[in-house]
Amino acid sequence: MGRGAIILIALVGLAIYYFSNREVNPYSGRAEFNTISINQASKLGAQSYAQILQQERGNLLCPTLSAGACMDDDLEVVATVREIGERLEKAAIELEQDYLEAGYDFTPVAREFEWTFNVIDSEQPNAFCLPGGYVAIYTGIMDITGNYDGEVTLADIDDPDKLAVVMGHEIGHALAHHGAKRMSQGQLAQLGMAAVAVGVGDMDAGQRQMVMATLGMAAQGGLMAFSREHEAEADKIGLELLVRACYDPREAPELWERMGKVGGQRPPEWMSTHPASDTRAENFRQWMPEAMDQYEQNCGPLR
Ligand SMILES: [Zn+2]
Repeated sequence: MGRGAIILIALVGLAIYYFSNREVNPYSGRAEFNTISINQASKLGAQSYAQILQQERGNLLCPTLSAGACMDDDLEVVATVREIGERLEKAAIELEQDYLEAGYDFTPVAREFEWTFNVIDSEQPNAFCLPGGYVAIYTGIMDITGNYDGEVTLADIDDPDKLAVVMGHEIGHALAHHGAKRMSQGQLAQLGMAAVAVGVGDMDAGQRQMVMATLGMAAQGGLMAFSREHEAEADKIGLELLVRACYDPREAPELWERMGKVGGQRPPEWMSTHPASDTRAENFRQWMPEAMDQYEQNCGPLR
C-alpha cells in the first residue's frame, strides 16, 4: 500500500473520530469536538487547583475565613469574593435550568461542581475558573476591577460589579467546557500532523520542513480562532450570569476596555486570544438591550 493510501486512511479515521465525538454546546448552538468527559476534566481541574494552592500557600488570603486567624482587610476581601462567587454559582444553576427548559440537550454541571473561591496575593492581573468550579482571583486584578487608581486597596471592592464581570467570564469558560475542548482540539491537530508527517517522508528535508511549518501555522491559526470564539462565548455567558445574580451588566464593556489597556506581563488568558477590543465592544452593544431588560425583570430598575 502506498503512502498516499495510508495517509488517506489515517485522515478518514480522524474525520470519523472528529464527527463521532461532537456534542451540542447550548450556548452557541454549535456541535463541538470534545473527547474529555466532564468527570475527567473536573478531576484534572481539582488536581491543578490543589497544585496551584500548594505553590501559592504563602500568598493565600485567609483561606479558612476565620476571624481569629486573618487580618481584617484580608477577611473582607475573601468574604466579598466568596459572596460574589455564591451569587454567580446560583445564577449558573439557573442559567443551565433555563437552557434545559428551552429544549437544549446537554448535561448541566453547575450543581455538581465543587465550587471553591480563593484569593491569591499577587501582582499578576489574573483570575481563572478551572473545570469543576475551582476559582482563584489574584489581587493584582482588583484595582482594574475596582476604582482603577493604580493601587490595590480595600476601596477597590466597594463596588464589586466589575469583579463579578471577571468572575462571570471565567465561570463561563468552565460551564462551556472550554478547557476540555481546547485540549481535545490540540490532540486532534497533533494526530493530523503526525499522519501528514508520514506522508511527506519521501520529500527532501527542505520541502518537508516547509510543508510541516505551513501546516503547523494553519493548526495554530485554527486553534487561535477557536480560542477567540471561546472568549466571546465566555463574555456572553458571563453577561447572562451577571443579570441573574443582579450585577449591573453595563459594567462588562467598561471592564474589558480597561483590561485591553493593561500592558506589561499578562498571563495567557488575557493575551492575544482575547477578541480585539472593537469586536468585543460590538458584541456587548448587541447583547446589552436584552441583558438590561432581563436585569430589570429579575432585580428591579437599573439606575
Ligand atoms: Zn477568557
